[in-house]
Amino acid sequence: MPLTDLKDVFEHELKDLYSAEQQLVEALPKMAAAATSSKLKKALEMHLQVTQEQLKRVEEVGKAVGATVTGHTCEGMKGLVKEGDGVIKEGKKGLALDAALIGAAQRIEHYEIAAYGTAVAHAEELGLKDAAKKLQKTLDEEGKANEELTKIAEGAVNERAAA
Ligand code: ZN
Ligand code: FE
Ligand code: FE
Repeated sequence: MPLTDLKDVFEHELKDLYSAEQQLVEALPKMAAAATSSKLKKALEMHLQVTQEQLKRVEEVGKAVGATVTGHTCEGMKGLVKEGDGVIKEGKKGLALDAALIGAAQRIEHYEIAAYGTAVAHAEELGLKDAAKKLQKTLDEEGKANEELTKIAEGAVNERAAA
């Protein structure tokens, strides 16, 4: 698909986001299973549910603007998920692996925050108000997920210091 105007760019962004969320729906259960801390496990499981909603939301936005959201692989998310898989394979269950998992999950959230932030700006520029609103909702959720991970990481640092 040639990218000739901002609408094309926006449509490509939707495809990318759809693929990214789809990959996460598969990756998050593996990350949750590898976590030791019940707080981290729960946070990853909760974000899986949120991610399933986000996937649907991208689909809805695509429908509303007449764009197909399938047929593209987000290579960025593919790489980030691969990094997370590597950590799980190399690590032994425990607090250290949890720290690595939080790092991998936060890289993922930051990537999504960047991608959704751009998509919201482009939707606004294109005058697609509903699309911008929907994508902003996901952007807020990703921000919250990232903050939650920071809190869990800080709690874990204290735990390790006390051990
Ligand atoms: Zn792409
Ligand atoms: Fe997401
Ligand atoms: Fe996310």
